[in-house]
Amino acid sequence: MQKAVFVDKDGTLISDIPYNIDPEKIKFLPYVIKSLKEIQKAGFKIIVITNQSGVARGYFSQDQLESFRVQFSNKLLQNGVSLDGFYYCPHYPKASVKKFESKCVCRKPLPGLIFKAAEKQDINLSESFLIGDILDDIEAGNRAGCKTILLDSGGEKNWNISYLRLPDYLTKNFKDAAEYVLHE
Ligand SMILES: [Mg+2]
Ligand SMILES: [Zn+2]
Repeated sequence: MQKAVFVDKDGTLISDIPYNIDPEKIKFLPYVIKSLKEIQKAGFKIIVITNQSGVARGYFSQDQLESFRVQFSNKLLQNGVSLDGFYYCPHYPKASVKKFESKCVCRKPLPGLIFKAAEKQDINLSESFLIGDILDDIEAGNRAGCKTILLDSGGEKNWNISYLRLPDYLTKNFKDAAEYVLHE
């Protein structure tokens, strides 16, 4: 079995511009590229887990999101990081696009996308990590049985803490998050 680092996208890997799918606006946060390379070198798969309710809200189509994904992956590849997966939830309970109006099991804080990735890619979740910038990410990671790291880049505003939403580690930069993964 493999081990993985599941990463949230917005506010964790790149600057959080709400509902952005313009690849020109992709800006990697400090230490992300270098740290992802180290994580990869240590034998972890790198898998993005992201809520993309912009699809359900009618802000962009799945085709547009797919073309964003391709360019996002290419940008990482140009920097020496090869993504092993990119899983997204297109749903939202109060969607304007009826097809995606659902109470799904894949929208974080639920762990559906992590389970799906783990099954497809033969990942041992207890040896894996999740890095995210809000407590919904942490809850998803904890529910999946991963070790969790909250990268407090300013995205969490509510701090609605509960047992399931406590991270194993808290930091303000991606470099520390990677070091935790590598030395834990
Ligand atoms: Mg985020
Ligand atoms: Zn979903």
